[in-house]
Order: sequence, then structure tokens, then C-alpha cells
Amino acid sequence: MRYFYLTFCCLIAFQTGMSGQERIELSYYLPEGITYDPAIPKPSEVIGHEVGAWHVTHDKLVQYMQTLAAASDRIQIEDRGRTFEDRPVLLLTITAPENQERLETLRRDHLQLTETGASNLNPADMPVVVYQGFSIHGNEPSGANAGLAYAYYLAAAQGPEIEKMLRDMIILMDPSFNPDGLQRFAYWANTNRSMHLNPDGNDREYHEVWPGGRTNHYWFDMNRDWLPVQLPESRARIKTFHDWYPNILTDHHEMGTDATFFFQPGEPSRVHPLTPGRNQELTAEIGTYHAKALDGIGSLYYSEEDYDDYYYGKGSTFPDVNGGIGILFEQASSRGHIQESENGILTFPFTIRNQFVTALSTMEAAWNMRTKLLEYQRDFFADMRNTKTKKGTRGVIFGDAKDGARAWHLAEILQRHKIRFHELRSDTEIDGKTFHQGKSYVVPMDQKNPKLIRAMFEKRTTFTDSLFYDISAWTFPLAFNLDYAEMTRLPEIGEAVSTLKPLQGGVDGQSAYAYLFEWHEYYTPKVLNGLLQKGLRAKVAKERFSMDENKYDYGTVMIPVQGQTMTSDEIYTLLQDLSKGTGVQIHGAQTGKTMGIDLGSREFDPIHTPKVGLLVGNGIQSYDAGEIWHLFDTRYDMKITKIDTDYLNRADLSGYTDIIIPGFRGSGISEQLAEKLKEWVSEGGTLIGYRNTAQWLDKNELLDLEFRRDTLKAEDISFEQRSAFQGAQVTGGAIFETRTDRSHPINFGYTNDRLPLFRNTNIYLEPSENSYENPIQYTSTPLLSGYISEENAKKISGSVPLKIGKHNRGKVILFTDNTNFRAFWYGTNKLLMNAIFFGHIM
Ligand SMILES: [Zn+2]
Repeated sequence: MRYFYLTFCCLIAFQTGMSGQERIELSYYLPEGITYDPAIPKPSEVIGHEVGAWHVTHDKLVQYMQTLAAASDRIQIEDRGRTFEDRPVLLLTITAPENQERLETLRRDHLQLTETGASNLNPADMPVVVYQGFSIHGNEPSGANAGLAYAYYLAAAQGPEIEKMLRDMIILMDPSFNPDGLQRFAYWANTNRSMHLNPDGNDREYHEVWPGGRTNHYWFDMNRDWLPVQLPESRARIKTFHDWYPNILTDHHEMGTDATFFFQPGEPSRVHPLTPGRNQELTAEIGTYHAKALDGIGSLYYSEEDYDDYYYGKGSTFPDVNGGIGILFEQASSRGHIQESENGILTFPFTIRNQFVTALSTMEAAWNMRTKLLEYQRDFFADMRNTKTKKGTRGVIFGDAKDGARAWHLAEILQRHKIRFHELRSDTEIDGKTFHQGKSYVVPMDQKNPKLIRAMFEKRTTFTDSLFYDISAWTFPLAFNLDYAEMTRLPEIGEAVSTLKPLQGGVDGQSAYAYLFEWHEYYTPKVLNGLLQKGLRAKVAKERFSMDENKYDYGTVMIPVQGQTMTSDEIYTLLQDLSKGTGVQIHGAQTGKTMGIDLGSREFDPIHTPKVGLLVGNGIQSYDAGEIWHLFDTRYDMKITKIDTDYLNRADLSGYTDIIIPGFRGSGISEQLAEKLKEWVSEGGTLIGYRNTAQWLDKNELLDLEFRRDTLKAEDISFEQRSAFQGAQVTGGAIFETRTDRSHPINFGYTNDRLPLFRNTNIYLEPSENSYENPIQYTSTPLLSGYISEENAKKISGSVPLKIGKHNRGKVILFTDNTNFRAFWYGTNKLLMNAIFFGHIM
């Protein structure tokens, strides 16, 4: 296809300091020689400005897409749910009008291609399904803005070619993968835009304030959530994915301003081994269409470098383990409206046009490769059906004897991915571990997509490449800290679970004496916080005991009935309300006499009502901060005050029991703020620091740490090899085994003395000489899954990921690892909760 050139006159306009706004026309983006249906509204007629003149806000994007769908019989629009900020998660289904009328039949036939009996279907007669998604990173907006022109083109373009193409394909258009982030960034770029566009990179327009528009409401990177599906936006799109099984899925991003344009395939050595070779061949063939289209408008580009196809939680990689082809696009970002770059002046419209032409070349590739792509998809699933009858692993079992919620949440992920699983018929022992009916699930490999199951459950410790764009391990049962086993023979299982029963929980009887609950269930912090906030007093058991044939582990919470400000009836009702739906079972005790410590023993310590502050803002890692905010706010219903580092100096901290520093970014926080926090700790506060706060805590004498230093020297490494050499030392995200002392309050609620931790730093701390001061310690060969360099593997051996110290009347707790990673590391969330509720007794 040929394109109409307007770059030249745009450049003239910008270089002479004139506003580019009136010079941009829709024709700049659109292919030439096509007529358009005048009944279809153009973007500017609805949103009030030309595409690229301003950054489209999500509100206006929605307005245009709805108007377009109402005007076009090629488009159906669907509202698939809400973001955290209540924005609609839209989907446009675009195809020929005659296909729209039998869309459900076409969808069922398409799905049939992935099932047994697919050989009866003729792919040559079937439409190809293309899922096109834009700007999952909100501050990479050229994709979503290109979507305006692209949707217009699809609705309005006339002629036999486009009509034939639309008959042969179904386009699922996701106009904004990240509505909240797009809105945030558009606000920034527009409010700082001068009427006379200014390409000076120092302008405020190009330097968003913290946390920036990349992430969603809770500052999550949405492009890491395709596999864990913890966020509402991902949940909507994963449902669409499994409704349709698209043949191609595209993911339009931006990268640094001085770059050009990237399309996949990426680094050939960095493809996940479960992805078939044929997938990369097809990716390369699709790439030839992008190359041709970009050649046609004179845009520079590259592929087979920088980016990889490894972590299946990314939009461009997830389809690769599901019989489709994922394509990543990366456009150099103007980040605002116009910027100077190594490649000359980079205008926002130019970035939009590259995204537009590659959206169109995707369509062209899909159309030309239609039968091939459909056959590939059919064969992908048929091959799995044909090979899985061989001997080997028949299934996976996972569960936790004392915590139903973590297993439930992993099962929920399986359900979202249409992976079949079953409950046990009875309690079963496998590899020395007991799996309980109702708290364990079995996943047979004999089902539609065993590759996806492997991708989620396997441990992998050998790799062909030592560089990873993202994490190298995500083994779900380890992230959830569940007992699990791969089985060569399946135990007795019941029917497949079609709907997960909601978590139960409750109180087993009213008591006039005391209530008890163990600390193992995932949602115990929610229950405990709920009752403390209502003014109830509670205590925690530092020793184990038993009563009425029930055993109570370390960390059991006891609520006496006497001496409270509530009546016995009110307490009973409150505990029922709080525990309902959490999985937490509360026992009404009729006596204080136990086997072991009695309920009046000094070994029960009072629990204080927490008031928690979280440092956010400049100098703080926004991902880590967002994970903690999300954990408190959405899982445990706990209030957490986000204190901005710019405001900290003026804040009265005296009311806070705990303050969390999620990890520093850049230069961290000032000396003055360090002094203020130190003073607050001296007066009895608990300061909880993560990851690279280690050096800061040590320097400010809040903790005395001994670091295992890096001694690695480059030997026989050439200049060309240096970045690979350095990259190989990065621990980008892998899983390691620790040994835990279960009697220590930091480990209350854990049932095993082994706990997997996620680590993405290279901070290695020497253990204390006193073993009781090392409640969590890496084992001697701790790598469970993922990549670590040989050098670092030596350093981690026997080191400690946790340090607890006293500073005058206060406490300082350091985690070198992220215990809240990306909302799916359920297994270590309790460590932070233990630091909050039990920090004072450590
Ligand atoms: Zn991106």
C-alpha cells in the first residue's frame, strides 16, 4: 500500500515555530487512493481535534468508538468491565456486515479448530481472527491514538479489497489496553502542551511527574499480567482471548525517543522453549509485511534484537503458548507532542502513523497468511493431543492443609485460563505430603492445553541465554507457597470444578470466654485488622498449645470476651461478619485451660491496632509501592496512608505504628528526611524497608548490615561482549528456597519450614552469628526456578533476605526481596503482615 506524504510540511511547520496543530490532517495517516463512506464520522468531528493534535483522553476515545460503532454495520462494541477508576474496558469486533450477523457461529467454528474433530473443518473457508491492542503502557500513547484513525479506516474505507478482507477476517480491536494510564498521561501531555509546540527535551511536557502514566491505577505494569491475571483490565481481555483464540495478537508500545521502530521477531536465542519453532517462522513472515509498509513511508525500523519472547505474562508472548502469534511493536516515543531526537525532529503524528501502518500491515499479513495461520493453530492443539498420551506426568496436585484461600486463588487463575481442574475425592498422601479434600486441586495433563499448564507449573533452571527482558521464573505453586507434586498416576478425583465455591469461614459457636483462630489462612490479617479497628483487643500466642483436641500453632490469635468495650453478643456478631467469605474459622473457647500455655499466659502478647504509612513519590519505586497499596486496599481492606516524599517533611508521623519504604529509585530520599524517620523510629515506630533500602538503612545506622560484595572481574571479555557479560549478572527475577524458623513471629502462619522467595536484586547479606537472629535464611543451593549467574549463586548460598534490628524504642525490618511481587506472589504476602502486626514482639 502507498501512503500520502505529509512529513515534510509538518517538519517545516515545526521548525519555523508555527503550531503544527492546523497542519495535521487525517489524510496524513490514511492510505491514498481510497474512498471513504461520508456517513461515517471522522475522529475530529467527534473528539474536537485532529488525530495527533492533542493526546486523546480515554473519555474521548470511548466517545469516538461508541459513535463509530453506532454508525457502522461493520462494528460491534462491547463494554467488558471496569478499570479500578471505573473506566469501561471496550472491545470492538470488526468484520463484514454479513459476518456480524452470524458472529457466534463463526466464533464457535473458530474455537472448534482448537478441539478434537478439527480435521473436519476446512481452514480455507474460515475467517482469521486478529486481536489488536494498543498502549498497554499509558504513556506510550501513539498506539491508542493511531487506533482512532485505524478504527475510522476499518469503518469507512470503501472498495472491493477492504470488503473482501473484512469478509475473511474478524478483528478484535482493544482500543486502550490501559484506560487509567492513558487518561493520566493524556492529561499530563495536554496540560503542558504549548500552542507553539516546543521540541526541547527539557520542557516539562516531556517529564511526567511520579508515578507517570505507564501503569494502571495501582501502578502495576499491565503488560506483565497476562498469565497471573490479577487485574481487572487483564481479566476482561483474557476472557476475550479464550472466547476467540486469536491467530495474531498485536501489542503496540513505545520505547526511547532516540530509537526507531521495532517489530518482532526478537532475539532468536531468547524464545521460551515451549514455543514451537514454527511460531517464530510465522512471526518472521508477518514481519516482512511490516518491513514493506515501513519502507513505503521511509521509516527506519529493526527486528531480531533487544526484545525477547520469554515471559508468557506479556501480551506479545502469551499467544505463543496458546496456538497464536504474538507481535510486539515498539515505536520511538515523542512522549509529548514533538521532540528533538538522534533521528531528527520526532513528532507525535509521525509516531502515530508508524503504528497505523503496522496495524494495517498486520491486517494484510493476516489476510494473506490466513489459511497458514489457521492450520498452524489447528496443528498446535492437535500435536498436543497426539503427544500427551505418552507416559510421563499425568497431572499436578496443589494445596495447603491449613490455608484454603491460596489454593483457591491459584485455582481461580486456572479457571480464567480455561484449564480444567478437579477436587480430590478424599484426603491423599503424595510424596510425603497430605493433600486435603476441599483445600487441594488436581490438574490433569490430559486436556486442551498441557503446554500452558507446564508454562505455569514447571521449574526451569537451565537456559540457552543468560539475558532476560523480564523475569526468568514464575512457577505458580512456588509463588503461592503451596504444597504440590507432579504425578505419574492420578489420585481419585471428582467431577471437574465448573464454578469455584466461594470461600467459607465463620465462628463455630458463641463463647462468653474467648475466641481463637490460627494464623495460617491467607485472609487472617483482614479479620484481625477488622476487629482491631472496631476497638476489640486481641493477643497473639508465641507458643503452640492444644485444646479440645485442636492444635493451635504459633501465631494463634486470641480475643478475650471480658474487658472489651463490646458485649458478648456484639463480639460474636462482629466475628461472624468479619470471617464470612474469608476461609478463616474462628473457634469459641469455653475455658482458658489448655495443653500448653493457658489463655491468660504471658506468652500471649497484645496486638496493637496498626496505623500504616507508605512512602510514595519521588525517590520511591512506584511498582513496589503500588503492590503494597493494592495489597492493603484490595486484599486486606486495611487503610494505608500514602505519604509523598515531597510532603514527608511537613507530616506529623507520631500517630503511625509502621512506615514502609518500598524501595528507592534514583537517589532515594534526602538526609533531612532520613533524620526525621530515624527520630520517629527512636520513639517506637517500626520502619519496614525493602530491597535497596538496605544500603540506606546501613548508612544511616538504622541497621548494621554486612554485605557480600561483588568480586567479579571481566576476563577475556571484549568490548562487544561487555553488555552480555554485565547482563548475565542481573538477577532479573528468579525463585529461591529459604529455611525458616517457624517459632519466630516473622514466620507465624507458615506451616512448612521451607519458603520460596522471589528475588530481583543482587543484595546479599551475611547471616548473624546467633542463629535465632536468622529466622529466614537461604539454603546452601537455593535456586528453585529461574536464572542466576554462577558468581551470584555462590553469594546467595546461606545468606539472609531479612534483617531485624532495634533502634532505641523502635524496630527496623529489612526485606532484601520483594514479598508482594505483581499481586500474584500470595505465598509471601504474610511476611509483610507479620512485620506489621507482630513487629513489636520480634
Ligand atoms: Zn511498553
